[in-house]
Amino acid sequence: MNAKLLLTGLGILLLSPFLLAADTQRNTTTKGFWLDHKFNVMGTQARVRLWTKNKTLADIALEKVEQLMVHVDVTMSPFKESSLLSKVNREAADHPVKISAELFSVIDQAQQIAKLTHGAFDISFSSVGYLYDYREHLKPDEEQIKKRLKLINYHSIILDKKHSTVFFRKKGMRIDLGGIAKGYAIDLSIQALKDMGIKEALVTAGGDTFALGDNGGHYWKVGIKHPRTESKVVTVIPVANEAISTSGDYERFFMQDGKRIHHIINPETGKSASEVQSVTIIADRSILADALSTSVFILGVKKGLALIENMKDVSVIIVDNTGKLFYSSDLLNPENSP
Ligand code: ADP
Ligand code: MG
Repeated sequence: MNAKLLLTGLGILLLSPFLLAADTQRNTTTKGFWLDHKFNVMGTQARVRLWTKNKTLADIALEKVEQLMVHVDVTMSPFKESSLLSKVNREAADHPVKISAELFSVIDQAQQIAKLTHGAFDISFSSVGYLYDYREHLKPDEEQIKKRLKLINYHSIILDKKHSTVFFRKKGMRIDLGGIAKGYAIDLSIQALKDMGIKEALVTAGGDTFALGDNGGHYWKVGIKHPRTESKVVTVIPVANEAISTSGDYERFFMQDGKRIHHIINPETGKSASEVQSVTIIADRSILADALSTSVFILGVKKGLALIENMKDVSVIIVDNTGKLFYSSDLLNPENSP
């Protein structure tokens, strides 16, 4: 993993996922130029930056990425009543609901991460999670959580590959792909860019980024935000041809009775996970980096590090709830990586 070389010797700094403009600077010459495109999708800002020699082709590519991300939003949003996911949430407890191969695949991959993390990642968290409204500062009371907590269980989500259906074993269950869909949308976008012959690009949606190419040998440098001081970057990670995702408790939250109520929910309690402040994952695909950053956030330092140490080609940087940084051993000792 490229990041290994880079982090070694960097020392202990803290991290928020935004890209440092200076790092993507290259001379605008006859050899090519940078094009940027920003738009809002999936409840966050997406950004595409690519290096091209052909403005017409690049404009088509930028539009294609926006189209693909909007498509994922329209299909997988739990907030849009017309989405296929909303249909699943309305009907899947009554009968198996036919879904597209694409939605099937994303739910299937979410289920694999659920198994891998022993249910820390569980898209049925939404059976309780839907009662939180971070903008309105609303959260479910103890009684509501108690009543609905038993509905959170990924084993109750039944996928039938042959018929391409999903079924819920319990009435009242809901699923939400907010912890994995952005990663999926980025992988889809990167594939489209590659198919169009683009070799150098950054695609970002919220805290998830894929860096295609190596920025002309300079690496792409992704800064990881300080979880408590917005203007600060805790560390900068050079990446090339890999995905980097950060999950933090500082993006969508409100404070109540001195407690931070945020959008990453521990399926065991139905409440915001509180062991860490931020988790960054580096992996070869964005869907994996996205789902694992959410997972490790819930698992905490000890279990989270143990999970990632066992995975090939995945690295992690954790900021715990005291601000202390932890790295997977491959980042500290490149020669020891599995
Ligand atoms: P962001 O959406 O800010 O990029 P994450 O990638 O960490 O952050 O995803 C957080 C989202 O994951 C939440 O908004 C929610 O939709 C979903 N989520 C929260 N808790 C869980 C969980 N236990 N398992 C799976 N998904 C979850
Ligand atoms: Mg995530």
